[in-house]
Formats: sequence, structure tokens, C-alpha cells
Amino acid sequence: MAVFVLDRNGKALMPCTEKRARLLLERDRARVHRAVPFVIRLVDRQAGSCEFQPLRLKLNPGSKVTGIALVRDTECGAAVLNLFELAHRGRQISEALTARSAFRRRRRGANLRYRVPRFLNRGNKGKGWLAPSLQHRVVTAIAWVTHLTRWAPVSAIGTMLHRFDMQALENPEISGVEYQQGTLAGYEVREYLLEKWGRKCAYCGAEHTPLQVEHIQPKVRGGSNRVSNLTLSCHACNQAKNAQDVCEFLARDPKRLAGILAQAKTPLKDAAAVNSTRWALLHKLKATGLPVETGSGGRTKWNRARLGIPKAHALDATCVGQVEAIEGWQRPVLAIKATGRGSYARTRLDRFGFSRGTLTRQKRHFGFQTGDRVVADVPKGIKAGTYTGRVAVRASGSFNIQTAQGVVQGIGHKHCRLVQRGDGYGYSYIAQQRKESESRGRAAHAALSLSGLNAGVSHEN
Ligand SMILES: [Zn+2]
Repeated sequence: MAVFVLDRNGKALMPCTEKRARLLLERDRARVHRAVPFVIRLVDRQAGSCEFQPLRLKLNPGSKVTGIALVRDTECGAAVLNLFELAHRGRQISEALTARSAFRRRRRGANLRYRVPRFLNRGNKGKGWLAPSLQHRVVTAIAWVTHLTRWAPVSAIGTMLHRFDMQALENPEISGVEYQQGTLAGYEVREYLLEKWGRKCAYCGAEHTPLQVEHIQPKVRGGSNRVSNLTLSCHACNQAKNAQDVCEFLARDPKRLAGILAQAKTPLKDAAAVNSTRWALLHKLKATGLPVETGSGGRTKWNRARLGIPKAHALDATCVGQVEAIEGWQRPVLAIKATGRGSYARTRLDRFGFSRGTLTRQKRHFGFQTGDRVVADVPKGIKAGTYTGRVAVRASGSFNIQTAQGVVQGIGHKHCRLVQRGDGYGYSYIAQQRKESESRGRAAHAALSLSGLNAGVSHEN
């Protein structure tokens, strides 16, 4: 992976190779500016009026993961410098807000029933408003564009402008006026379901009994209210199934399960999330002032197939727009996971909204905060060893460290050394799939030596 380089005033220079970065650090010509992603700062050079090679930042916006690639434009295509995968947490945000609203509703009924109802107190959301979980996708993608343009002299942006045809995803032969006639044209949901499922319980086949509308994939497990996720069941089956997955519930009746799954359809939630954020993201990208190139999903796929590149979020980003050839894509990917900065609420609640315990008022203990990147050197005992990763702090001083190999629990704060303050993201490297097996060892070695370099960053940096 390329290493980002800043001049002594913090202005971006062309990224360099890992080897060159190591030499610069050894010869004391540079300082470590940031550990992950790795950024160094030269101590003896000012950018002045340098000429830079054209760098392009390419995005493949997705619902769960956005692929980002930093490439250098060459005469016959692009040379890949860095690959990133940014994992969003739209789902967690949505769940947290749903939970909060449920707790408030319970309190309203239980504790505040004599308070005068609130009335007309909702603000105007205005044009361009996005739900928080969608806004988050736009904001985090733009945050990383801003970071990367600060660390590298990016001169252009390329992004994929998805257009999912939701109706065609469901029914490939759709045309003309059918677009205006959704699944429910001329129906009510209940009527539609009665007819679709033959007026009997989908799970036991009971007829002539009151039927209830049932979620095939339960709502608590992420099932939606789409009509394709709904079925009919008798009261007894509905109660028995409860919040179980349909596969679990019908594990002993695979034939019936197959029938139900064949009638249900894959949810389109992810396509909907990308569809509703694509323009917001494009407008924000244009607001950076850099020229923005857009490419369609079809063109990306065509590029990928033509150049023989495997499907991955970050690699798809390299294939966005007009590219003739791509070199150097066989490199590790930095996975960036949006984790947030902890909870504002200091009370942990159980699923009924009652207090389960409280968090400490302060978030920082012994100079560390959950989310910081640390190196722990444990000299002896059963936990003896060196661990690098994201720390989760406790007031007792016994910390947990999330390493690449898993969580290590109960590490004393005295053994920990700070590498980088938490910034709301977790980082890990993914070794990329390669064509040639011999280059696999080389890249893995490179990733290892980089993490070794990171481990050596001192406290002052
Ligand atoms: Zn039944």
C-alpha cells in the first residue's frame, strides 16, 4: 500500500512506497503523522510549487459498504495506490432510534400520562432531508473523501451513480403501464395476501379460521413490511413462531419451507438505501470543487469482466468510469468500520426499557478511551505477549483489546501504550485475492511490516 506523505506544513505530497517511507523514517527525515491509515510528515521539505501526478479518488457507494480506491491516472488507465472498504452502520442507527422511540412510548404511557399531549411540535424536515441512517452513509463517505484529499493531492473524483430499477429487479419483463401498477394495484394488503396464500394458514394449512398477517422474516430480525415478506397464519402458529426465523420454525418441514421461501422475495432494502442517497452524495462530492466523473453500474461490471478483476467493493471502485487498464490492484485493503464514539446515554437498558446498569460518567480511564488504538506489552502471566488493536476500557483498569485474531480480555492499563486516539472508526487489513499465488506472500509480508511499523509509533505522535 502507498504511504501518505505530508510536507512540514502538513500539505499533501505524492504518496510514496512503503520502502521509501521506511528509509525516510530511518534517516530521521520524517515523523509518523498518523498510524492508520499510515501518514508520514517530512521535516525538511515544503511543497512550494511542486507538480503532482494526477490522482483520482474513486467511490463505489453501497448500502452496507462503500468501496474507495485511490488511483494514479496513467496514459493507458489507472495505477492503484490504496484500497479502502468503508463499512457503514445504518442498520445500528436505525435500530437505536427505534429502540429509543419504544422506550419513550412506554414512559409516556406509564409515567407521564397526566402531562398535556404535545401538539404540532415537529419541525419541517425540508427538502433534501434524509433519514439519520441514510444521512450517515453520505456523511461518512464524504468524511473519508475529505480525509484522503487532505493526505494526498487528489485532482479528480470518480463515483458510481447507481440506478436500481426496483420494479425490474422484481419482474424483469415489466414494461409500459405496469410500472405504475405495483404489486398491490387494485388490492388491499389483506385481500392480496388472502388470495396469494390461498386463504389458509401458511404454516399448518388450517382453513376457515381467523387468519393473521405474519412476517416471514420477523421484524426484530430485520424483516420489512414489504408485501413479499408477509404471509397469513392462524393464531396458534403465529404465537408458536414468535420471533423465530422461518427456517428455524419450519426446520422439520423442509417441503413447506421451500414453498414459502419460493413465494417470498429477496428484500430490496439495500437497493432502496443506495437509490435514495445517490444524489445527496453526488451533490456533496461536487461541492468539494474537484471535477467529478460518474459511471454507471453496468459500465463498472463490464470493466471488471474485461480486465479480469474479482468482485470486491474496493476493486469495483477502481473499475468505475472510463478505464482502459488497471495495474497494481493486487494489494491489501484497509477495512474501515464506522463504530461511532460510544453512547450518549449512560444507562444500559434491558429489552423492556428498565435500567440494567449505568456506565461511568466519564468515558476516559487511565488516559485511555474506548476506541483508542493501543499496543499492549504483557511481560508475564497467561496473557503474556504483544497485542495491537482497538481498546475497550473499564473503570477498573482491566481493558479488552480487539486484535486481528480476536478479543483479548483483561489486559491491565499499565501494559497499554497509545498508538492513535479513537476517531469513530475501527481498522483492519484484508489480504486481497490475487491471481498469482507467489505475489500473495509478498503482499502479506508488506501488510505485516506495515503493522510492525505502526506498532513502533511512540506516544508523542
Ligand atoms: Zn396455523
